[in-house]
Amino acid sequence: MILLERKVPNKLLFANALVRRLDKNHEYFDYYVNLSNRLQAGYKGELFVDRQLIEITHPEKHFLLFNYECINEFGFSHQIDTLLLTPEFLLIIEIKNISGRVDYDEDKHQLTRTLIDATESFTNPFTQVKRHGQYFFRLLKRLKISLPIEYAIVCSNPSTIIGTIPKHPPFFHASGLQFYLNKLEAKHKSVVTHSKLIELSKYLISNLKRQEVKNNIDPSNIKKGVLCEMCNYKFQMHYKAGFWCCPNCGVRNKNAILQSLDDYRLLVNKYITNQEFRDFFGVDSMQVISKLLARLGLTSEGEKRGRRYIIPENIVERGPF
Ligand SMILES: [Zn+2]
Repeated sequence: MILLERKVPNKLLFANALVRRLDKNHEYFDYYVNLSNRLQAGYKGELFVDRQLIEITHPEKHFLLFNYECINEFGFSHQIDTLLLTPEFLLIIEIKNISGRVDYDEDKHQLTRTLIDATESFTNPFTQVKRHGQYFFRLLKRLKISLPIEYAIVCSNPSTIIGTIPKHPPFFHASGLQFYLNKLEAKHKSVVTHSKLIELSKYLISNLKRQEVKNNIDPSNIKKGVLCEMCNYKFQMHYKAGFWCCPNCGVRNKNAILQSLDDYRLLVNKYITNQEFRDFFGVDSMQVISKLLARLGLTSEGEKRGRRYIIPENIVERGPF
């Protein structure tokens, strides 16, 4: 059973919003284009591994939590790609999307990737999963649940060549997941009852804490307006008779506002007043915007001039309205 669905990571949404809204000459534009591409590839790889896991696990006795985030007792965060809870063991999975050849130097705690003629160093997934494991070891002890902790570092890119790598924690291709799970099931006898596993799941869900994305870009540096997707976000659309119209390609669209409001939420503020809406999206009439805000069905706080609307996280999925 999937207890926690994987969603598009906030960091990726944020990078995509900046790619749409930063001027191409801005000093960080190229950085965010690269970041967006890298995060997109990583997310795609995670979805690929998720599909394999969903297929080989048993929905009635296995619990899956995708992209689980929490804060430990010392106030530091854990971001775990995948958690698999079974009556026999708790499996921490780290997913790596690395092209080329990967090698690990145990003395230096260094993971390297070699392309045809370039070698670079990566975050060390071995230390990462072990740190998560130590957290779960303390947590399970506190909750008095005796469940063995297991690890896997799964490579989501089938073309990666896994070079010199330590035996533990195991690092393998997604195609090896079935074999690995069978091995773990044979190794551990059933130790935890279904109700204990549910208790642990509830605890984990109630302690879910997503990391906020830090925005270092001043809102004065981002492009205002509802931007035309057809024109690669180069042109600002005008609002006419209920439609957003592009002066360049002539497209008319009601829902273009949704993506733009999401950009506003990510890059400026999750609250917006009628005045701020008019300033940012270039509409003069307060009445027109009041009507539009009512149609969007956003929750509001405060009264009259002080009223502010809350832009929800799933605004893009709301359309068409
Ligand atoms: Zn256009």
